[in-house]
This record gives sequence, structure tokens and C-alpha cells, in this order.
Amino acid sequence: MKLDHIGIATRSIEKGTKIWQDLFGFPLLALREVESQKLKIAIFDAGGGVRIELLEPKGEDSPVAKFLERRGEGIHHLCFAVKGIEKVLETLQSKGIKLVDEVPKRGVSAKKIAFLHPSSTNGVLIELCEK
Ligand code: ZN
Repeated sequence: MKLDHIGIATRSIEKGTKIWQDLFGFPLLALREVESQKLKIAIFDAGGGVRIELLEPKGEDSPVAKFLERRGEGIHHLCFAVKGIEKVLETLQSKGIKLVDEVPKRGVSAKKIAFLHPSSTNGVLIELCEK
């Protein structure tokens, strides 16, 4: 498992860009809109193969809007790249880890992604991805 990206919930990608790009110098790699999750995503290269993904909700019913309401801006999830994601999920589940996605779905920048439930991972939402 290798850290792939850190997802950060924000109310404003524009403001976030001032921190991550203008202040820290991380180049903006992409700006995307994900209709299925009602999200705007800005992806920055944080070096060492790790990206920062800013997540801004596009509507009140976006899962990230609910997160912002409950917890405010901050780290939303960590994503680790794995090989053989189905097998990894099966192994984790057999060890008692609660899965949000039992079957991987298509991600924004990865072929397959799946989330683990924060209740079994120290309160941290963890995403696994396979490129
Ligand atoms: Zn992610």
C-alpha cells in the first residue's frame, strides 16, 4: 500500500488553490466536476507521487456538503494505491474491517476505487485505488 492522495473538504476550491498552489507551490494537475457525487475536484501534485485533492460540494446533497456541515473544512480521506483491489477488500473484510464499497467502483483518476468505513479505521475514511 502506498499513499496516493489526500482528500481535503473545502468550501472554496478558489481559496484552497491560493494555499496549495500559490503558497506551497504544488502545481495544479486537473480540475474536474463529478456529477455523480456533486463535486468539484482540484488535483495538485504534492511531490513524491502524492497528490492533494480539494473537494468542493456542488450542492447541499453532496456527501462532502454533509461532511463540511458536521466537521468543517479539513482532511476528508486518505487514499492508498493497491494492486489487486478485490483481493485486498476481501482480506480486509475477513479481518473485520467494515467496507463502504464491497465492489470497487470507477474513480475520477483511478480505474477502481473503494472506501473503507471510518468506524473500523481509527475514524479515518480510507479510500483504496487501483490504477
Ligand atoms: Zn480520493
